[in-house]
Amino acid sequence: MRILVVEDEKRIADFLTRGLEGAGYAVDTAPDGNSALTFAHGTDYDLVILDLMLPDMDGLKVLERIRNKKAGPPVLILSARGAVDDRVKGLEQGADDYMTKPFAFTELLARVRALLRRGQPTPERLQVADLQLDSMRRRVTRNGEVIDLAPKEFGILEYMMRNKGRPLSRTMIVEHVWDMDYDGLTNIVDVYIRHLRSKIDDRFPVKLIQTVRGIGYMVEGPEASPRPGERAPEASFEHPG
Ligand code: CA
Repeated sequence: MRILVVEDEKRIADFLTRGLEGAGYAVDTAPDGNSALTFAHGTDYDLVILDLMLPDMDGLKVLERIRNKKAGPPVLILSARGAVDDRVKGLEQGADDYMTKPFAFTELLARVRALLRRGQPTPERLQVADLQLDSMRRRVTRNGEVIDLAPKEFGILEYMMRNKGRPLSRTMIVEHVWDMDYDGLTNIVDVYIRHLRSKIDDRFPVKLIQTVRGIGYMVEGPEASPRPGERAPEASFEHPG
């Protein structure tokens, strides 16, 4: 899940970024309206958190232009402007929620999760064979046993389970789980997949994380793969590009 935070006040932007990343989301921040529009048009975000008083244009203008895009992401306005008039205008122009500053992070996070759920056509309980992931409670179990995952591990697994049976490239995984400040190698995905395998697959006879040669990885249950023995050996990590 990737969130765009549009906020010119660095202190608030940093606070939001830290909190949301801690909750397992990838976060990009835009300090003004123009960069927000550039980001929003170049990347598929799952949610936009939008300040209204921006240095170069009114946040409502940003909202209008994001909304011009077909099927844009949900937008949560986070503004010091709390007048009823502002709220009504924001919601009328297509914002999905409105919060006023100052705000409690826990409330913001609850609303972020609610909006992300609403935008998800897939159920929040994902299941592949005996592996279950509850994206709302951020809980993973295999064969009934709770498995602790770090936020990025959880993000990767959730992305792969939502795309069950579909091979995902390292680049797709990085773009979905890391923010755009990350400019390292996509090899990092291999490292995280190793961690995930040690937590999710190693102790179980049926392996769910598959290496797809020349592409990347996918999660698939045994019911869908008649020849699970064909899984590529773990040592065959390809170099990206
Ligand atoms: Ca502002």
